Amino acid sequence: MIPNAADDARGFADLGLRPELLRALAGLGYEEPTPIQREAIPPLLAGRDLLGQAATGTGKTAAFALPLLERLAAAGAVGAGAIEAGAAPRALVLVPTRELAIQVSEAVHRYGRDLGARVLPIYGGQPIGRQLRALERGVDVVVATPGRALDHLGRGTLDLSRLAAVVLDEADEMLDMGFAEDIEAILGETPADRQTVLFSATMPPRIEGIARRHLRDPVRIRIGGREAAPGVAPRIRESAYLVARPYKPAALGRILDVEAPAAALVFCRTREEVDALTESLNGRGYRAEALHGGMSQEQRDRVMGRLRSGVADLLVATDVAARGLDVEHLSHVVNYNVPSAPEAYVHRIGRVGRAGREGVAITLAEPREHRMLKTIERATGRRIPVEKVPTVADLRARRLELTRAALEEILLEGDLEGYRVVVETLADEFDVMEVALAAVKLAHEAAGGVADEEEIPQVELRPERDGRERRGPRARRAERPGDRRRPRSRGEGMTRLFVGAGRSAHIRPQDLVGAIAGETGLSGRDIGAIEIADRFSLVEVPEDAANEVITALRNTTIKGRRVNVRRERF
Ligand code: AMP
Repeated sequence: MIPNAADDARGFADLGLRPELLRALAGLGYEEPTPIQREAIPPLLAGRDLLGQAATGTGKTAAFALPLLERLAAAGAVGAGAIEAGAAPRALVLVPTRELAIQVSEAVHRYGRDLGARVLPIYGGQPIGRQLRALERGVDVVVATPGRALDHLGRGTLDLSRLAAVVLDEADEMLDMGFAEDIEAILGETPADRQTVLFSATMPPRIEGIARRHLRDPVRIRIGGREAAPGVAPRIRESAYLVARPYKPAALGRILDVEAPAAALVFCRTREEVDALTESLNGRGYRAEALHGGMSQEQRDRVMGRLRSGVADLLVATDVAARGLDVEHLSHVVNYNVPSAPEAYVHRIGRVGRAGREGVAITLAEPREHRMLKTIERATGRRIPVEKVPTVADLRARRLELTRAALEEILLEGDLEGYRVVVETLADEFDVMEVALAAVKLAHEAAGGVADEEEIPQVELRPERDGRERRGPRARRAERPGDRRRPRSRGEGMTRLFVGAGRSAHIRPQDLVGAIAGETGLSGRDIGAIEIADRFSLVEVPEDAANEVITALRNTTIKGRRVNVRRERF
């Protein structure tokens, strides 16, 4: 039972979204709602407040953005043609970092394009003038970091009096970054009858406190809260790799090179991703086939035939397209992204390890998605070890091993007499060992064994904290972000980095925390004391993540400028 193209964005229509939104979703290649979307969209459309425990990777952005747009459209309040065009924004989304501000506003823009929704991200580090002009022209949805939103409120350039909805996204991260008071101040400027949505990966008491004060009888949703049904653990070797998004195709190629699967099913989120990844894998010499809901029955049958007959060895598919597929000889399941709920993970990996054979399940996670991995571990009761992406050296060793094994096979097969004359004539001039080495080189190169590979940066997974109140010397970040009274002592296992910009460049602690949390696998609560001097800043980060932070900060901008970052010298 494979759905066909007529089922575009199946399930979203049942949730009560208008055609403009359904078209946008189909255009993005979304085939069905994720669990959190299924649960959150109906009550949000009904105007309820919502308290959601969900991490990045669950599809929570669309879970709040779609009903938001639907409600604004129903009220005739989006787009340049809206009643009172140019008036104050109708929705505000608060997020912890500028990266998230950009990401969320891009998502809202994409979903609301056919509605003409005007979305503006506002965050520190971007010239304020551009934001002012856009606000003057009129926007429907503002996506802001709390600090910059407060700046605008102070200047009187952001009018929150007409908000119909406020979303607090990644609320625990915002608290960790010291935005508690800013959030309270911002909410104080919004109408009492607004709809309020709060998403947080963890639910420490302080988040519950905010929810009690600012949400009215909220619907509560939790993704991954339930334990998976107990059963016989399948014989599956599970592992995960943390990879930054730009390196994912290369990382997957390399992992597959090392794993050498007999037949693998690779899950992607959207049709676009399926097509792009299939092309990239074919470019790397794999025989990959795409399967998604946008294909005709005939195309699908052809793909399945190629997989069954062994002409193809990788099937790249969306969940919807893979449902009901029966592929006998699968050795590997690959999650190209962390699945949107533990149930989806369990369901996907259950496709290998059947009939007593050991199967392999591999999950690629972007640094921001590491919490979702933990949620899956808790739900399944099994640890998913995070492995290092094979390095160029690992790959070389593996390819040499393959060449060695191929030669061994030929030696065992025998029937080599026809080549004796070549070795004998060369042996007059060269040592036999040298002749053998040259032959190995020739065979290795002919098998494509010497690709020039770029290194893929390793991302370390931070040890999970419990998300409750923060302890010890770092707890003071819960105070105002502008607070410069940072202790000078160094925390255990922490190292201090020198960042070549300070007060004179208007750097504030939250800019540094935002840049680090946005660019690395660290979260706000992993970052230690921060000192801001006139011309430089010092920031404590865990020693084992120092190199990652240095590389990431050197490759980004803070407050619009590139900065020098290094370990502090004594
Ligand atoms: P989020 O958890 O909101 O950060 O979303 C994670 C990723 O899932 C984003 O890249 C979204 O574009 C994608 N996504 C969200 N909802 C769906 C869906 N229903 N189908 C496919 N992809 C989705």
